[in-house]
Amino acid sequence: ASCSNASNIALLPQHVIDQIAAGEVVQRPVSVVKELLENSLDAGATHIVVHVERGGLSKLSISDNGSGISPTDLPLLATRHATSKLKTVDDFSTLSTFGFRGEAVASTSMVSRLLTVTTRTVNHPTAYTQCYQNGRPMSDKPKPCARTVGTTLVVQDLFYNVPHRQKAYQKRENEEYAKILSVVQQYAVHYPTVGFVCQRSTLKQGLVVDCYTSQIPAVKALLQSREAAKRDGDDVHCRNRIHEATKEILSHVLEANLMKQLIYFECGSNREETILSSSKTSDAVTKPLVNSAATNNNNFQLEFAAQVYCTPPNHNNNQSNKTVNNNNNNIAHGKFILFLNDRLVDLASLKRAMEDVYVDFTTGTGNSKVSKPVVVVNLRVPGTQVDVNVHPSKRQVALMFQEDIVEAITKALRQQLEGCGHTFATTMPP
Ligand code: ADP
Ligand code: MG
Repeated sequence: ASCSNASNIALLPQHVIDQIAAGEVVQRPVSVVKELLENSLDAGATHIVVHVERGGLSKLSISDNGSGISPTDLPLLATRHATSKLKTVDDFSTLSTFGFRGEAVASTSMVSRLLTVTTRTVNHPTAYTQCYQNGRPMSDKPKPCARTVGTTLVVQDLFYNVPHRQKAYQKRENEEYAKILSVVQQYAVHYPTVGFVCQRSTLKQGLVVDCYTSQIPAVKALLQSREAAKRDGDDVHCRNRIHEATKEILSHVLEANLMKQLIYFECGSNREETILSSSKTSDAVTKPLVNSAATNNNNFQLEFAAQVYCTPPNHNNNQSNKTVNNNNNNIAHGKFILFLNDRLVDLASLKRAMEDVYVDFTTGTGNSKVSKPVVVVNLRVPGTQVDVNVHPSKRQVALMFQEDIVEAITKALRQQLEGCGHTFATTMPP
């Protein structure tokens, strides 16, 4: 109701402000999983277990063997904008972590009934546990308990105080779980040096493990020699091993016989350099800045590097998919995964353009059973060409020269598919 004489604008109470913000970060159960997975990766974990009950609505837990959280950090853990990662806005250009907003844990707590954190660092002889409600710790001091080094976060009754969301996802528990599994699988593909487990509790079968990459021999070997791999990161042997492991993970999570069919290619400029740089923003400092002035220059060279794993155009999905298989969630039937500077992001224009290439190759074959392609892209650009701070969910990014990059990758894909028959064994990375 408005009254022209009285003032109508009032500041929202803080808890309402926090609730609104939390809703943007935690849109659905899978958003929590993505954020918490990224926290585990930021903490240097090499083993991450995701456990899901009722599509993540009743219980979600993520355990890692990362660095752990100091008990003195626990009081602030679920407070919005509390982060150990970003200190000033200047840090954006050199950011090497997924997180920087300090919102995920806080938001998760704001939209769930109970958040429990159990954690231990190498510097502490015991672990500590703390429960949170509405972003606030429920006791003055964290309680000592037992745990190996690392962190476990348990989220209970997600959206219990956001009835419309709870309702929205209640009838779609399987669908939500499929989304969670898919995100875990995508990270598993991109991080062959980390073991991922995704499991769920079911009424009929009890505990069901759907993804378990640390049991894959190539991953096991990588995990065992991770320290060495880190040390000789640019060693060809290591790269080949990572490459092998990636292929095996892909066929583990997608389709058993996929490995033999996969096509691999690289494209872009500065490939070697860019692909090997590990920072999420790449080395913007040492590389020449590509700016708008350079665009007008004849010598302009598009700076990007892409590694692409994809199925051939006639790829036939004849093997039944071993993962959760509910109607429209057959993972082997069409999948586009993009990591941009190690971040899992959405770039609809690239997806569309690459899928269009496949359409060109498959029309006219008269084979209606031909599967949609599986395409995995690992794209790197100089950190200065991408803005990750576009949306709280961090799924959207602003990418400079997007059209040119999409065009270049699409062209390379077309060339590869034209010369099909090129399979994995013959196209190893240099
Ligand atoms: P951000 O990742 O943007 O910093 P989050 O809300 O996701 O914000 O996490 C807040 C802080 O909690 C992190 O900065 C980190 O210090 C700590 N943290 C969260 N999860 C973990 C984890 N699994 N292992 C170690 N530290 C963690
Ligand atoms: Mg985070």
